[in-house]
Amino acid sequence: MGKISHTEALQHPIFKTVSKAAANLGLDAYVIGGFVRDYILKRGNPKDIDIVCVGSGIALAKEVSKLLPGKPSVSVFKNYGTAMLKTGSIELEFVGARRESYQKDSRNPVVENGTLQDDQNRRDFTINALALSLAEDDFGNLLDPFNGIADLKQKIIRTPQDPDITYSDDPLRMMRAIRFATQLDFIIEKDSLEAITRNAHRINIISKERIVDELHKILASNKPSKGFSLLHKTTLLPLILPELVALQGIDEKEGQRHKDNFWHTLEVVDNIAKATDNLWLRWAALLHDIGKAPTKRFDKKIGWTFHAHEFVGAKMVFTLFKRLKMPLNDKMKFVQKMVLMSSRPIVLASGVTDSAVRRLIFDAGESVEDLMTLCEADITTKNPAKFKTYHHNFKIVRAKIIEVEKRDSIRNFQAPVSGQEIMKTFGLSPCREIGQIKDAIKEAILEGEIPNEYEPAKAFMLEKGVALGLKPIV
Ligand code: ATP
Repeated sequence: MGKISHTEALQHPIFKTVSKAAANLGLDAYVIGGFVRDYILKRGNPKDIDIVCVGSGIALAKEVSKLLPGKPSVSVFKNYGTAMLKTGSIELEFVGARRESYQKDSRNPVVENGTLQDDQNRRDFTINALALSLAEDDFGNLLDPFNGIADLKQKIIRTPQDPDITYSDDPLRMMRAIRFATQLDFIIEKDSLEAITRNAHRINIISKERIVDELHKILASNKPSKGFSLLHKTTLLPLILPELVALQGIDEKEGQRHKDNFWHTLEVVDNIAKATDNLWLRWAALLHDIGKAPTKRFDKKIGWTFHAHEFVGAKMVFTLFKRLKMPLNDKMKFVQKMVLMSSRPIVLASGVTDSAVRRLIFDAGESVEDLMTLCEADITTKNPAKFKTYHHNFKIVRAKIIEVEKRDSIRNFQAPVSGQEIMKTFGLSPCREIGQIKDAIKEAILEGEIPNEYEPAKAFMLEKGVALGLKPIV
């Protein structure tokens, strides 16, 4: 086959610099992996560029740095034999071509120096093994030993080697296969898919952080359900997110069925992906119903119930985040809050009063719009009339939120009369009554009995204090 050249992929001056540096050291160097793949897929201009050379990647990185204005510093990762440097917005990663062999209990291989072909053999997928030469006399030529270009065109994820060995050697590749299939909307070739299913149990040697990285990328894609159904199909999902798998299935009792909450959840996640890029809101969509499995009951009078599933679900969010070593910070709290409140606007949609909206804003605070987005995504009914009505009702709730908020400023609610002032008015030291009065003011505002303003709140405070048997001293 004749050589195929992609010099147009290498127009950025950095490639000539790497080429020159490689020539200075007498090495062959190539651009490899994601940059080449994404260039051919026209996925924008990748900022991470992987360079492989037959020789020392660290030496090449240092030589490149010498040739660049300002001689950017080189970060060396001696253990991995890699080096990295940043120039402008570009991050270059250098590695010497290597041959790898694996042991059963680790995804870290034993590494030896190798040829370009050895290095391409160790790559995870044919589409990630494409290399472009940076040699001065061969600049831009494509080296594609596994016909990755054909797989890119046909949208196929395939391993260069026997898939059973590829996935068993480094089980993270199973997650990567599913992630790339989701991100790129590719199909995982049959042998690969079967090998993933056979090797799914090997995922237990992969760190939680790596798994979560891939889950984030699946969730951040346009149609996350594709990834989660693949995780499900290959039996990886119960090993990673058993809480989700527990939602699968439809029970029937006395002729009453509930919906399959697993497939429903995946629809909700796809819906929310169309509405927001907020990763944590997408997590909330994924987890919004997890409390339904442990709370499911059948009641002869009312049928299937999931009583307090939002509360149970919010608690499960903490356990799940902890198990997956995800941050137990404000992001987790946000997801918990969304799960806890996930049914609140639905109640409103059937009859919206000002006071109910004020309470919603009070409880959801800054997250009230996110909550509405989640609830809209939760509408998965296949009945067009219902679909229209629910969306219409949520539009009314959204409009009401804006109207009420403009008038009453409930978001980030600050009591219009402070505890200090209550103490001063009635000559009190800290005591229970102060809390009671503050609470009563807040309730009166939320119920719409008084506006959220100082004078009416002060008058209400005096009235309430007297009713509690207190006497104003000022
Ligand atoms: P993205 O940046 O979207 O994750 P990428 O392909 O650049 O895509 P990286 O994780 O940066 O992904 O990896 C760079 C290249 O290194 C890949 O294209 C692939 O050739 C190789 N690679 C990465 N991880 C593995 C792995 N676990 N097994 C084999 N090869 C891998």
